[in-house]
Amino acid sequence: MTSYFNGLVLREAGARPAVSELRLPEVGPGQVRVKVRAAGVCHSDLSMVNGTIRPSYPLVLGHEAAGEVVEVGEHVTRAAVGDHVVLNWQPACRNCWFCDQGEPWLCSTSSGVASLENGVTLDGVPVHVALGLGAFADQVVAPENAVIPVPTALAFETAALLSCGVLTGAGAVRNTADVQAGESVAVIGLGGVGLSVVAAARAAGASDVIAVDVSEAKKGLAEAAGATDFVVSSDALSKDIRGRTSGRGADHAFECVGRAATIRAAWRATRRGGKVTVVGMGSNDDLMSLSALDVFSSARTLRSSVYGSADFDIEIPRLADDVLTGKLSLDHLITDRIALPDVPDAFDRMARGEGARSVVSL
Ligand SMILES: [Zn+2]
Ligand SMILES: [Zn+2]
Repeated sequence: MTSYFNGLVLREAGARPAVSELRLPEVGPGQVRVKVRAAGVCHSDLSMVNGTIRPSYPLVLGHEAAGEVVEVGEHVTRAAVGDHVVLNWQPACRNCWFCDQGEPWLCSTSSGVASLENGVTLDGVPVHVALGLGAFADQVVAPENAVIPVPTALAFETAALLSCGVLTGAGAVRNTADVQAGESVAVIGLGGVGLSVVAAARAAGASDVIAVDVSEAKKGLAEAAGATDFVVSSDALSKDIRGRTSGRGADHAFECVGRAATIRAAWRATRRGGKVTVVGMGSNDDLMSLSALDVFSSARTLRSSVYGSADFDIEIPRLADDVLTGKLSLDHLITDRIALPDVPDAFDRMARGEGARSVVSL
């Protein structure tokens, strides 16, 4: 049965995305059709619009989403019709070397896919879907390993955030950096991911959570997420953070911007022997230098966190449970509730550094 759906389509990099009617492929063996109920506007979507990431066009944007399974193909065992699910844009094959090592977030078959062909326009032109999903749409057809069932008590808009921004931020705290109770944490960059780092650090029992952004307007959001201190970024940032951590520097710094200058600031804001975790995705030509003596004598660890260093199939249900039991609060993350045609305006707000997450209700 051919099904039609509305999706937010980007014709080319730099264009203004617009809602179009499209035709979805039929659900094949091992695939599911999901009615999308909520989708968050993530920075990676903006990167596809402004050309930082180069997928194929025309492209249905969106990848941070949750919905309800409405059809399952042959041999599907993970989900049934009626299940509420979170969509995973980087499903693991469970067969490659990395998956065998227990590092499915580095799965060699799924990483680096910006878009896949899936569906056609009404006049028959093939359509691509962002990160294998294309979730700014009322329906998605995806492989079954791209859906993770969650309790029906979890609100769809919260479930959507878990799938990308929250998993990335909370995973960086829990898995990559392994923040312990009583440790001090600095978080640079307070978008949806940075605010998730703040909330997860607080939930982990961090004594000090120093939140940093270029915009003073993020102060209220930072405090709502659990920050103990808020600092407007400046050239004296590292010195400021050391001043708030007995002159030593923080036990952990999380860089959630993706720029060499802020990675370096995070490095310098961390104590000797501390951990610097890079969560932001930067560009290939933005180089950072550290002296050989500094690397040796500071005894710091510099590590990146890809998709929260998380096994999504384990971590997503765990995060859902933490939200439902009140251990992790994400209420502060949603600053705008919007409809599909409003997504381009949400990109404009994101580019200006305003708000936290905009979530599309479908
Ligand atoms: Zn994302
Ligand atoms: Zn794999």
